[in-house]
Amino acid sequence: LAVKGVQALSPYQPGKPIDELARELGLEPSDIIKLASNENPLGPSEKALAAARSALSDLCLYPDGNGYELKRALSERYGVGMDQITLGNGSNDVLEVITRCFADTESEVVFSQYAFAVYPLVTQAIGARGVCVPARDWGHDLDAMADAITERTRLVFVANPNNPTGTVHTAAAIEAFLAKVPERVLVVLDEAYCEYLTGDDSPDGVRLLSRFPNLIVCRTFSKAWGLAALRVGYSLSSPDIADILNRVRQPFNVDSVALAAATAVLADEAYLERSREVNAAGLKQLAEGFDRMGLKYIPSAGNFIAVEVGDQAAAVYQTLLQHGVIVRPVAGYGMPRHLRVSVGLPHQNDRFLDALAEALTAGG
Ligand code: PMP
Repeated sequence: LAVKGVQALSPYQPGKPIDELARELGLEPSDIIKLASNENPLGPSEKALAAARSALSDLCLYPDGNGYELKRALSERYGVGMDQITLGNGSNDVLEVITRCFADTESEVVFSQYAFAVYPLVTQAIGARGVCVPARDWGHDLDAMADAITERTRLVFVANPNNPTGTVHTAAAIEAFLAKVPERVLVVLDEAYCEYLTGDDSPDGVRLLSRFPNLIVCRTFSKAWGLAALRVGYSLSSPDIADILNRVRQPFNVDSVALAAATAVLADEAYLERSREVNAAGLKQLAEGFDRMGLKYIPSAGNFIAVEVGDQAAAVYQTLLQHGVIVRPVAGYGMPRHLRVSVGLPHQNDRFLDALAEALTAGG
């Protein structure tokens, strides 16, 4: 019964839930570590928790459909107008709304090999043609992506940093790419992991918005801000684009608890700083562990890292599960020799590295 594009869809594969694995292994959920979904290992910000709790007293009321307080906080933090912001139920929601607004069955949508799985998914769901451009050194080949644009192209997705590879382009490379893209083609710059980038010269799509009216920057509260369960994402764009997106999104797509927590966490600079520190230390710890084991990995700018474990990656994944460690296989991304592991707390990273060493010695 489903339309053609939808019939051919394979569902997005989330990480295995902790409770499910605990039941299978006869363990307590607290014995399991999940490093599979690029979540923040710190647990939520206390400020966000307090705001979420106090929002519970209004559960019988609809949320603010315009997300006024959150938009105001975002607008102050990033120096954009409130009319440039579109809120979503996670940034996945925003990615889907963008695709529905700007592409149709006649359109082509360009993305990179090894790029975030939701781009081909939303493209296929609306029956547009996905144009997957071969990657270079695991990252987006921006020149080839610009060359792949035809008169049918409506959208280009660029993940910076990209998931699952962790590759990142410099601000200059993104700018040079945007300069090549015709204005009638929208560029969706997905910056889900941008808060982990440090340094004044870090790529930052917001700085480019005033110069490129065809740019949409997507961000999320799920990663460095530690609110994945609440599903809050947003895009920043020209007011004209935001106006269109806001017409199509569901009127109450972000709930009151999520709005309150996201607004509060934006004021918790110390939490963000801790997220960055824990992540930088964890990436180093994992990379050093892989070096000791002689494993190759893709240097990552995100809160995860893809490590090459070889032909036996599927078996290694299963053995890790038996040790109560959940990571993410990335064969579905065309990376059958890699596993992606999210950065955890120091003891979690150690447990993963120990389990990995055992799994590799056991031959998978
Ligand atoms: N973009 C990228 C590159 C991601 O890795 C993710 C999460 N895995 C998302 C967007 C979506 O995140 P969310 O829907 O939780 O905001």
